[in-house]
Amino acid sequence: MQIVCLDLEGVLVPEIWIAFSQRTGIPEFARTTRDEPDYDKLMKYRLALLRQHGLKLADIQAVIGSMAPLEGAREFLDDLRSRYQVVILSDTFYEFADPLMRQLGRPTLFCHRLVTDADGYVAAYRLRQPDQKRHAVNAFKSLNFPVIAAGDSYNDTGMLGAADAGFFIHPPAGIVAQFPQFAVHHHYADLKASIDGAAQRLAASR
Ligand SMILES: [Mg+2]
Repeated sequence: MQIVCLDLEGVLVPEIWIAFSQRTGIPEFARTTRDEPDYDKLMKYRLALLRQHGLKLADIQAVIGSMAPLEGAREFLDDLRSRYQVVILSDTFYEFADPLMRQLGRPTLFCHRLVTDADGYVAAYRLRQPDQKRHAVNAFKSLNFPVIAAGDSYNDTGMLGAADAGFFIHPPAGIVAQFPQFAVHHHYADLKASIDGAAQRLAASR
C-alpha cells in the first residue's frame, strides 16, 4: 500500500492568501513567498496587515468559507483515496484550511497552527516543524511505505525529492526549468495516470 502525499494550495484548492486578497479587495494580502522569500517576515507582515484592517480569525474564516476547491479536485482526491493512503502535506494552518477540508471530505491533513489573542486576532503562527513536508515523507519511508508526492511550488520540492516518485501539477512557469527532474502535469487526469504508473513500478520493484 503506497502513500500519496499532496500539497493543498495550488493543487486542490486556490492559493488562500491570493483568494483572500481578491475577496477582501486588499491587494497587499497577495504578497507571497515569491515576492518575500523570508517566510517569517512574510507572515509577520500578513498578521500586521490583518490587525491594521481589523480582520480577526473569524473574519478570515468567513472569507475562506466562501471559497471552493479547484474544479475537479474533490473527484480526483476521492478516486485517489479509494486506492491509496492519501496525506495532504501543507504549509497552511488548520484554522484556515477547515472550511475547504470539509468540502474535500476531510482527508488527513498535516499543517501548522495559528495562535489567537483574547480579542480574536491572529497573534502568532506556530510551525509544527520546519521543512515538515520533507520530514513527513522521510518518516513514511522509514515505516516502509513507498511514497508518491505531487505539488506545485518551491515549498514542495523537498517532499518531491524525498519521495520515491515526485510530480509537479500546474506549477508556475519559473519553477519548471529549475527542477527538470519532476514531470509537469496540467490536468488531474494526467497526474492520476503518472501516480498509477509510479505505484505499479514501485509495487513491482519490491
Ligand atoms: Mg502549493
